[in-house]
Amino acid sequence: MINARGSAVSPPAAPRIFSPPLRVAIVGAGPAGIHAAGALAELAPGTNIDMFERLPTPYGLVRYGLAPGHAESEKFVDSLHTVLVASDFRLFCNVEIGKDLSVEDLRSSYDAVIIATGAPRDALLEIPGVELPGSFGAADFVGWYNDHPDAPQHWPLHAESVAVIGGGNVALDVTRMLLAEAQSLQATDVSDEVREGIAGSRVREVHIFVRRGPADARFSPNELRALGELPGVDVVVDAADVAPDRHIERMTKQLVHARLAVETLRGFADTAPADRTAQRRVHLHFYRQPVEILGNGKVEALRVERTDPDGYGHVTASGVCTDYPVQAVYRAIGFLGTPLAGVPFDHGRGIVSHRSGAVVDESGLPIAGLFVTGWMKRGAAGLIGAARPDARQTVETMLRQLDSFGGRRADRSRIEEVLAAGDLFPVDWEGWLRIDAAEKDLGVEHGRPRVKIGDREELVRIGTKSAVHAE
Ligand SMILES: Cc1cc2nc3c(=O)[nH]c(=O)nc-3n(C[C@H](O)[C@H](O)[C@H](O)COP(=O)(O)OP(=O)(O)OC[C@H]3O[C@@H](n4cnc5c(N)ncnc54)[C@H](O)[C@@H]3O)c2cc1C
Repeated sequence: MINARGSAVSPPAAPRIFSPPLRVAIVGAGPAGIHAAGALAELAPGTNIDMFERLPTPYGLVRYGLAPGHAESEKFVDSLHTVLVASDFRLFCNVEIGKDLSVEDLRSSYDAVIIATGAPRDALLEIPGVELPGSFGAADFVGWYNDHPDAPQHWPLHAESVAVIGGGNVALDVTRMLLAEAQSLQATDVSDEVREGIAGSRVREVHIFVRRGPADARFSPNELRALGELPGVDVVVDAADVAPDRHIERMTKQLVHARLAVETLRGFADTAPADRTAQRRVHLHFYRQPVEILGNGKVEALRVERTDPDGYGHVTASGVCTDYPVQAVYRAIGFLGTPLAGVPFDHGRGIVSHRSGAVVDESGLPIAGLFVTGWMKRGAAGLIGAARPDARQTVETMLRQLDSFGGRRADRSRIEEVLAAGDLFPVDWEGWLRIDAAEKDLGVEHGRPRVKIGDREELVRIGTKSAVHAE
């Protein structure tokens, strides 16, 4: 097949009907798991899908990652809802694979198992002092301000000067929330506890440190512009950090997003000091890497080393260090997957080892019936939209493998037994719809579209209507 540009492309896979229908378990009900269900509905119509999710609610980071008030979050939820209901699925939220059921339980009960558990852990930053009180991983803070059921109820926001380490959108989300005005959250779905926490924040100054230069940071231009629009906040960039060099010029010619990001940053750098009148500031520092968190029993400063660009997009340590007095450090340098017993894991990259979505063993050979998709497959990079083509690739690989290996093994009796034993309290699709309605009702009471319920027990109580959880 030839596309419009005259290149050869693979033909779209034709839908396959299996008799009896395939039985597939999907682990994780985030965008990746849901798009895997969508791809199954399209490519193998009639497949029976059981989706297991450790939280009492579906949608993964769309619910618990996106910044509150994100213009498109309800749209993302609606489109995932549409994908899901177009498939033949059962939802089992509040069931954790690896704890309530094992991957082996699933493998013996389904024709195929697709792991879509995302990347929930903060990547490690191995510098001295990282364990000091006041040094936080972005994942925990993001969980707190999104009312994640496993997050702490209160967050310490008494630091006046804060360092944020990282050159991606999560660093910008964290910064925006640290400097948010409580009234700007009035129309969002965050709980009153989060709004009150933000209202009490004493943060006046945030220093963002990025190891490489402005053309290599992963900030999206829109997010950078949004930073510049924060009420009562000035954004400060040193003109020397965004001055033209061979690499920046090359990147901005080749990549639109690099050009837009650098233009926005140069706009910040050009602001005359006299025009910076806001009470609070964000300082964006490029070519700086953290080397040590300093403090006696708590964070008191961050030691940062200047890096030198080589003109080709790489940087080298210069040995020249500066200490920034800060009382908190937030690490937003990426996320890693969590290993699951029975699934080969690449610890260096924090993902499941795979080939085009087929999980492989230590010798690189595919393990029959085991697949992976989403951030657990690609690593923690890429927006929600990337989940769809990625899940499709995994499902195509799965269907090809079923053709060559055969070996249907679906015997759901073990799963049905565990589910019927009554020791678990799964929240099914109807249960999620009850939670959804309860949150929207709370929203009506508070004059907002929705107010999130953060308490796990309460979510499970509504989702299961279980007498055990009623009081
Ligand atoms: C802070 C932050 C902000 C973001 N903002 C945006 C944005 O504005 N726009 C955008 O397009 N993208 C954004 N993203 C990226 C987007 O969230 C990801 O691309 C997407 O969520 C990845 O999908 P996923 O399904 O692989 O992982 P997840 O969304 O993490 O879903 C994985 C699911 O698996 C479940 N799970 C994990 N372990 C188990 C287990 N053992 N058993 C059962 N279930 C399990 C988890 O609870 C979770 O629900 C953001 C990401 C972060 C971290």
